[in-house]
Amino acid sequence: KANRKFHPEDTVVDCGHGVKIGGGNFQVIAGPCSVEGKNLFEIARAVKASGATMLRGGAYKPRTSPYSYQGMGERGLDLLAEASAELDMPIVTEVMDPRDVQLFLDKGIDVMQIGARNAQNFPLLREVGKTQVPVLLKRGLSETIDELLMGAEYIMSEGNPNVILCERGIRTFETRTRNTFDVNAIPVLHHLSHLPVVGDPSHATGYTRYVRSAAYAATAAGADGLEIEVHDNPSEAWSDGAQALTPAQFDDAMRRIRLIREAVNAP
Ligand code: PEP
Ligand code: MN
Repeated sequence: KANRKFHPEDTVVDCGHGVKIGGGNFQVIAGPCSVEGKNLFEIARAVKASGATMLRGGAYKPRTSPYSYQGMGERGLDLLAEASAELDMPIVTEVMDPRDVQLFLDKGIDVMQIGARNAQNFPLLREVGKTQVPVLLKRGLSETIDELLMGAEYIMSEGNPNVILCERGIRTFETRTRNTFDVNAIPVLHHLSHLPVVGDPSHATGYTRYVRSAAYAATAAGADGLEIEVHDNPSEAWSDGAQALTPAQFDDAMRRIRLIREAVNAP
């Protein structure tokens, strides 16, 4: 179902609040790694003013250590829903447990993110597949492109056609960056699949100083969108502060991203 052979036209996914992605519609998802409290609103207002069209923030966090901050949980979903209503922006947030999918539906979450660590959690993929809510499916830590597409297949085979693929870097021998950004995956996924493809330069690089370069590369490679972590005070962020852009850095990035998009769209 994800294969372009049987579905030649690009899929356009309707994320709500009038925001569509794919088939020439380019969208930027921005916000903090974790929902931390009221600063969500400040960050949301800033990223929206800079041109972001969707708001991200994790309420359930897949942390490497069980002793690290695990997210605000349901209260985080409520804050996201409140910010969504105030700013008229769709929310993208990660669901980790199939038992939470109904709660995400009840809270009106617009896009459910499947994180890299759950890219092959087949019961979870099946559960979000039983809904019609758009799913942002991240590439697994060491997943091949074909395995990512099979993850999409798990969701779509249950009846949910609204899948957005996300290249967020893969694990390689390189240690200077958090992951290795596989920019190649963007045109390859477009070749093999009709689904929209988003690049995540934040998790792909892991360091603020490299995030913008990776964002420009993904945009130039024809991504249908970007997911970028932005924090009002990165050194105090509860997770992933080392890779967060400040609102000012994000604003600068957005100006250049718009210029690159013009080049991509040029006749
Ligand atoms: C995130 O988006 O904050 C996240 C945990 O991403 P990933 O699953 O790609 O590591
Ligand atoms: Mn993160």
